Amino acid sequence: MFEDGVRLKKEFGAENVFDFSLGNPDVSPPERFKEILREIVAEEMPAMHSYMPNAGYLDVRQEVAAYMSGEHGVEIAADNIIMTCGAGGALNVALKTLLDPGDEVIISTPFFVEYRFYLDNFGGVPQLVKTHDDFSLDLDIIKGAISERTKAVLINSPNNPTGKVYDEDSIRALSLILEEKSVELGKEIYLISDEPYRDIVYDGVTVPSVMKSYKNSLIATSYSKNLSIPGERIGFLALNPDMSDIGIITGGAIMCNRILGYVNAPALMQRVIGKMQGITVDSELYKRRRDLLCQGLSSIGYAIEKPEGAFYLFPETPIEDDVEFVGALQKRNILTVPGSGFGGPGHMRIAYCVEESTIENSLKGFEETLKEYR
Ligand code: PLP
Repeated sequence: MFEDGVRLKKEFGAENVFDFSLGNPDVSPPERFKEILREIVAEEMPAMHSYMPNAGYLDVRQEVAAYMSGEHGVEIAADNIIMTCGAGGALNVALKTLLDPGDEVIISTPFFVEYRFYLDNFGGVPQLVKTHDDFSLDLDIIKGAISERTKAVLINSPNNPTGKVYDEDSIRALSLILEEKSVELGKEIYLISDEPYRDIVYDGVTVPSVMKSYKNSLIATSYSKNLSIPGERIGFLALNPDMSDIGIITGGAIMCNRILGYVNAPALMQRVIGKMQGITVDSELYKRRRDLLCQGLSSIGYAIEKPEGAFYLFPETPIEDDVEFVGALQKRNILTVPGSGFGGPGHMRIAYCVEESTIENSLKGFEETLKEYR
């Protein structure tokens, strides 16, 4: 999609291509990011470019832990934080640490496409389960999918591709199910929460803490989206301090952070984000785009679930074959992604991290394409 977008923009001019295909934030990083970056680059420090402890710099992990403790209402220590190459790095570290080949991980659909590949890296087997029509967790289906082979449940809220935020009640209920099933099956079942969009939420919605609800929980996250710096590859894995065997799992995760091929999180970015706790891009910018897109598409006749966070909309396609419909949009230079790739056939993903003018100017093409199929 990335290459298609580049090619079409060259051929037709950037203003005539409506590229909603990528979750690449277009909002600039906060001004403070550049200031801190300049300050750190100008500083002379011993061992500035050397290898580091595998979990990351202690002072940075202390800053992250202090901020997280306030945010989650749980006492999290620097020892519970492992700096990683983005949320993708954190997820891979978590899965490598926890999974034995053949272990199952329950994932609700639609889901972030890369989870399949992440699991495959370590012989994990995805157990895909449906969500309700409004994309909320279907707890009965999740409960029914838990078996002796289940090692973890992987959730993502705010969700890519739906923008759904799982509410406090559903996180509590899911935690109770996992507690009961862990006792019944005589094994630990972990809850991995992928949260890179935690700060991008709308209309007063908040993302409940899995750390508060469930002791065997891990959070994988990054600064890719909330600081608009996905190319800088900086994030972290947080382990619940009350987790069973916390020492063994922490040791495993630290080791895994070194052996997946990328070796530790980038030194410069660790130092920057250590000084940027609590600073984020302005979600209002994305909210305006969400409102513009939702209003525009629903008035044309598309069936949508209004996203509560992240910057994705996952409307139904008017025909079952979402690949065909996405192809028809592409003929009008509108680039979206078929829902079937996310385990959500009959839908398409529209990433609205684009300028408002792109949204406004695309609506005619969305309308014409819909009419073709009605
Ligand atoms: N998880 C989800 C749900 C995502 O959407 C993304 C990136 O788009 C990632 C993880 C990976 O994030 P990062 O770039 O921080 O590795």
